[in-house]
Amino acid sequence: MGRILKAYETRFRSMLKQAGARRPEHGAEWLVARARRLSAANSLPLYATLTQVYQRLQRQVLSPKRVSATPWLRANGLQFWCDSGLGGLCRWLRAAGYDALWDPCIEDAELVRRARSGERILLTTDSLLMERRLVRDRVVPALWLPPTLKITEQMRLVIDEFHLTLRESRCMACGGQLRRVPRESVRERIPPKTWRWLDEYFICARCDQLFWRGTHWQRIRNEMQGLFPQAAAGGFES
Ligand SMILES: [Zn+2]
Repeated sequence: MGRILKAYETRFRSMLKQAGARRPEHGAEWLVARARRLSAANSLPLYATLTQVYQRLQRQVLSPKRVSATPWLRANGLQFWCDSGLGGLCRWLRAAGYDALWDPCIEDAELVRRARSGERILLTTDSLLMERRLVRDRVVPALWLPPTLKITEQMRLVIDEFHLTLRESRCMACGGQLRRVPRESVRERIPPKTWRWLDEYFICARCDQLFWRGTHWQRIRNEMQGLFPQAAAGGFES
């Protein structure tokens, strides 16, 4: 917990500084102490209450500024770059219909550079990455995700922060757009059992992978619907 606690503290301090607090160090310590109190009072794990405190701070202090400071954020349809530890989240974002990129080997500096040139929002669990100048100055909009979160919790935070709605799924492998294709045209690529049961097939415009809506898709869709309360959109599998 020591390293994780430090990561939260770093984020708190930096957020308070951005918000113009006069004594960010003191404020960060106070927020950690508050999380400890909440944890003891409600018998919750410390990381859960730290996340609560973080989310509240994020909502109250930083979110409105971030959106207004970055005009392209809404204009380009919300695209994401996930850091090397967020491969799972990246796939979920694609399944929810968002163009998200991920590279397991990418260096921090390169990640920030690509997010900037591609006009994408950076998602990271690394509190030090948030201290880089371009991120700190909000040239590159970024959201820090506490390292203790499960994928569904990460998703919930991103949905909340950027007011995402559930869209038609994109390719889970690369984030490309899917287009419907006639069943006959892809017959040789469909397992016989699937062919007998399903009529709708889709191909990724970017990587050519074939998708259909099977049982795996149904599972993901059910989970998505829990995350997006008013959800009613499509998803796929291959
Ligand atoms: Zn693809």
